[in-house]
Amino acid sequence: MVSRVIPVDPFDLVIFGGTGDLARRKILPGLYRRFCSGQMEDNSRIIGAARSEHSTEEFRQMVADAIAEFDPKSGTPEMRAEFLERLEYVQVDALGDAGWQDLAALMSPGRVRAFYFSVAPSLFGALAERLHTHGIADDQTRIVVEKPFGHDLASAKALNADLAAHFDESQIYRIDHYLGKETVQNLMAVRFGNMLFEPLWNAQYVDHIQITVAETVGVGGRGEYYDKSGAMRDMVQNHLMQLLCLIAMEPPAKFDHDAVRDEKLKVIRALEQVPLQDVVRGQYLAAGADEPGYLEHVENADSKTESFIAMKLRVSNWRWAGTPIYLRTGKRLKARSSEIAVVFKETPHSIFGADAGRHRNVLTIRLQPNEGMDLFVTIKEPGPGGMRLVDVPLDMTFAEALGPDAEDVPDAYERLIMDVIRGNQTLFMRGDEVEAAWAWADPLIASWEERGDKPVAYESGSTGPEEALALMHRDGRRWREIRA
Ligand code: NAD
Repeated sequence: MVSRVIPVDPFDLVIFGGTGDLARRKILPGLYRRFCSGQMEDNSRIIGAARSEHSTEEFRQMVADAIAEFDPKSGTPEMRAEFLERLEYVQVDALGDAGWQDLAALMSPGRVRAFYFSVAPSLFGALAERLHTHGIADDQTRIVVEKPFGHDLASAKALNADLAAHFDESQIYRIDHYLGKETVQNLMAVRFGNMLFEPLWNAQYVDHIQITVAETVGVGGRGEYYDKSGAMRDMVQNHLMQLLCLIAMEPPAKFDHDAVRDEKLKVIRALEQVPLQDVVRGQYLAAGADEPGYLEHVENADSKTESFIAMKLRVSNWRWAGTPIYLRTGKRLKARSSEIAVVFKETPHSIFGADAGRHRNVLTIRLQPNEGMDLFVTIKEPGPGGMRLVDVPLDMTFAEALGPDAEDVPDAYERLIMDVIRGNQTLFMRGDEVEAAWAWADPLIASWEERGDKPVAYESGSTGPEEALALMHRDGRRWREIRA
């Protein structure tokens, strides 16, 4: 299978926070890969903008180092040199007026201008305002904003208002890199490009859905930030909610930014409030002297913030009434693994007798590792053992399907940045979606905060607290294995 690379129009991309961690690890190496693939026209430019003083030469060296560290395999030394030629640097203070005229002077007329706000959200409003007051923004301008988009509904509304004061919604790209993953888009292709699944995609045939995002890392290094946020704000309100929307939404009339986002919004609005007995929150314990636990990582022995959360959700609409959706995400779990599993109901009657067992079809969508899908179907166990049934996966590992082209599949950030340049907002969150997700999350967070609930402890390297297993067991169900 050959993947096609369609070059995007020439652009100027300014990365505010161009010297920061996200720019170095993801954005700049990602742009380099798009350059190597031939997707960037020769005269496109990338301008790093940040508060610290650097020459363009120093910035280019920083990017060369970042590529060497985070993507040493792509391209050739010549390509790397050519890519670095496309980079500029300006020192700009988001909160002052220094540097803005230098930035204005660098912009080329008549081409797409994109501004990536890879800085703290407290600077979003100031950046949006200064882009206007210094005459840098025009009708072609797009801005990209990073998570976290708000801490609650009030702060998300305030951020939306700050951006809306200077930019139209059609110019604002709220990034959730989960939406840029190949599998996540394939989920839409599988659902809406095949006749096979959609007739079964409802409460009549689906027993339940599980969404798991498991990490092996702890919060060391960003403990102070994380302790104010927790798994609910850091993962559920945004990433898991987006996955849930794509799995549960109605078919949009077309694959168009507003049509898709309208349907996602309806899912969020159909979510029932979650009673506290359907929520399990946990904190990981230390694993020996060298692996501190959550409380040591955040240096707060009284912390009530969760590093793990599991919950049972109900979507109140005709399609899903009666089919629960279970979410689970946490840190310091046994493997790094993100997966959605659609678990179908058992056949109404087994003609094979009790010995054959009862089986369920499961469609799993793996986000990481090994992006791909598996459809477990029930077949006869091969051999002379009589009519015994086994579940075998029909494996749709994308790397295998794509063959040698698999390495050219863009990662989430690359794909999303190219969508910004193309002006395609389908895979970005709209302001009302973000607000609806907070409107759902806020009362739940308030309910455990009001009670002063402390998360339960769980072993590092485990699947999370026992209570999370019980959440499923009491419904006669079980979580799928967390495996790498
Ligand atoms: P960072 O602290 O490493 O970098 C911050 C950047 O902002 C630096 O380049 C700094 O010079 C610049 N900056 C700070 N104050 C400024 C000012 N007044 N004017 C101009 N520039 C200023 O942060 P990061 O980890 O790169 O994160 C950037 C944003 O992306 C944050 O909103 C963060 O929440 C979000 N994010 C980061 C990651 C990640 O993996 N690092 C992942 C998801 C989201």
